[in-house]
Formats: sequence, structure tokens, C-alpha cells
Amino acid sequence: MEDCIFCKIAHGQVESQIVYQDEHLVAFDDINPQAPMHVLIIPRVHISSLLELGDGDEELVGRAHRLAARIARERGYDRRGFRVVANCGQDAGQSVPHLHFHVIGGRALQWPPG
Ligand code: AMP
Repeated sequence: MEDCIFCKIAHGQVESQIVYQDEHLVAFDDINPQAPMHVLIIPRVHISSLLELGDGDEELVGRAHRLAARIARERGYDRRGFRVVANCGQDAGQSVPHLHFHVIGGRALQWPPG
């Protein structure tokens, strides 16, 4: 998608603090971190939200969650815990229409979320 900021990050057209990348996924630091660890994991392909996942995307979603756990573990947040969030749509506050998983940790997180 030409105008998608996360597609541009995935294709190296916009700078970001890349944490990890492979042929399926890119992980990078959120530009406006809400906790000591705030990483975004995105698929390289443009999928606008969870609602647009299709048959065959299960492995991609599984890969994203395994990567989230790996990043959290590498940063030492496996003991105290961390959160993985995918905001979907207006009421959830999704502001970038390219599927992304927030990986947040390093402080006690509130529940329920605001
Ligand atoms: P959401 O509100 O769930 O759609 O999350 C979008 C996230 O993307 C927000 O936490 C933003 O801070 C983050 N974000 C937007 N633009 C960039 C960017 N260029 N680099 C890194 N993070 C970004």
C-alpha cells in the first residue's frame, strides 16, 4: 500500500528502530513508547487489521506471537510479564491501518485498559 507508513517501514523507505526482521515479519520500536519496552510487530504484507486476516494467515499470527515472546524474553520481561495487544478499529483506538501487535512491558500494566 503506497500510503501506508508501516509498509514504508517494512520496505525500508521510512526509518525506524528495527528490532528484528525476516521474510514474514518486521519488529521495531514504537515512536511513542508507553512503557520501557514498546515494540510493534507487523507482517511485511499489508493486512489492514485482524478483521482482514484470511485463510492461511494463521501461521503468520502464530509467528508474530512467538516473536513477541522471544523479544520479551531477550529483554528479561519474561519473569514479571508483558502484554501483547492488537487494537482493531475505531473504538479500540487503532490509528495505523496495517495489522500490528504491540509488545509492551517493563512496568505494571493496568487492567481493564482505558
Ligand atoms: P494503534 O494506535 O494501535 O494503531 O498503534 C499505532 C502505533 O504506531 C502507535 O503506538 C504509534 O506511536 C506508532 N507509530 C506510528 N507511526 C510510527 C512510526 N513511524 N514509527 C514507529 N511507531 C509508529
